[in-house]
Amino acid sequence: MNTDVLIVGAGLSGLLAAREVSKAGKRVLILDKGKSVGGRMATRRIGSGTADHGAQFFTVRSPQFRTLLDEWLKAGIAFEWSRGWSDGSLVSTRDGNPRYAINGGMNALMKHLAVGLDVRVNVRATSMHAVEGGWEIRDEAGVKVSAKAVLLTAPVPQSLAILDGGPVALAPKDREALDQIDYLPCITAMARVEGRVNLPAPGAIQRLHAPIQWIADNRQKGISQTTILTIQANAGYSHQLWGRSDEEIMRSLRVDLMPFLDEKSQIVEWEIKRWRYSQPNITYPERFLLAEGQPAPLMFAGDAFAGPRVEGAILSGLAAGEKLKDLV
Ligand SMILES: Cc1cc2nc3c(=O)[nH]c(=O)nc-3n(C[C@H](O)[C@H](O)[C@H](O)COP(=O)(O)OP(=O)(O)OC[C@H]3O[C@@H](n4cnc5c(N)ncnc54)[C@H](O)[C@@H]3O)c2cc1C
Repeated sequence: MNTDVLIVGAGLSGLLAAREVSKAGKRVLILDKGKSVGGRMATRRIGSGTADHGAQFFTVRSPQFRTLLDEWLKAGIAFEWSRGWSDGSLVSTRDGNPRYAINGGMNALMKHLAVGLDVRVNVRATSMHAVEGGWEIRDEAGVKVSAKAVLLTAPVPQSLAILDGGPVALAPKDREALDQIDYLPCITAMARVEGRVNLPAPGAIQRLHAPIQWIADNRQKGISQTTILTIQANAGYSHQLWGRSDEEIMRSLRVDLMPFLDEKSQIVEWEIKRWRYSQPNITYPERFLLAEGQPAPLMFAGDAFAGPRVEGAILSGLAAGEKLKDLV
């Protein structure tokens, strides 16, 4: 298989980059190791309900993202969820800035963005090497794809692991910069509750410095028929819980949930997700990195390049795609 641009990662940055390259009439193939597109824009079915268990909401700061969001709002894909969150106390912490979410769950946006693109899921890229006129990427089944240019959008340690699986050596300056990028872990629980949940409207609390930093009711959010709570531990607490069994983790998180449940309410079903790379805590100062001194274009993008959030991943993807279409 031959293509102009090969992108590893069908998260926000990979899909946005692919759309730019494809609009310019170039061939683009995207590989993702996940079961479906989306990466950290993740939504899961639990019984007859739905829960966002990666990104919960997003804000908009740049005109570029504003233009995209306006399209999604007009098409009924995105909606404004809130103008700030309560911390669970009586003091209002609402700052008036709109927070947006996606109808049907965050992953619905990703399915929309992937329409018309050649995305192969369940494919983990494991190594790459230079060939005449570009690169050859190999997946774990041994299948090879060659491309004139490669864009790696996985969390940076996972992108570097692909390079380390083969002979590609980055310039020391690039390697050093990428090696510094680190991510916070996040343990997330999804709990289906029968009975009343007492979360303040519009259905979430955020406590930035508490062990449980976020609790949201996906039904109040408007994306679930049933009451499913998403509970996220902060980085310190996630570290502490990391090696424990799912049952032990849920037992600990349940204690923090109790103040928000009625006496008769019960958790009837739950799942735990361990995000090793939830959000970068050290980022690169540019929107992408074009590796120096390589025989063909090799780029890195993702939320570690333009801000540790949905908007950062989008801006990074757009900038990388814009650059790539001129390189091939
Ligand atoms: C728990 C959690 C809560 C969050 N909350 C918010 C929030 O409320 N607001 C906000 O703005 N942001 C939030 N974020 C961050 C936001 O989700 C990310 O910034 C954004 O989705 C990152 O997109 P990306 O394209 O850079 O990376 P990703 O979405 O991680 O995409 C990278 C893709 O690469 C794939 N991949 C990795 N290695 C390989 C390989 N070897 N071969 C093939 N594919 C590979 C992965 O499967 C993945 O799909 C949250 C993230 C998490 C995890």
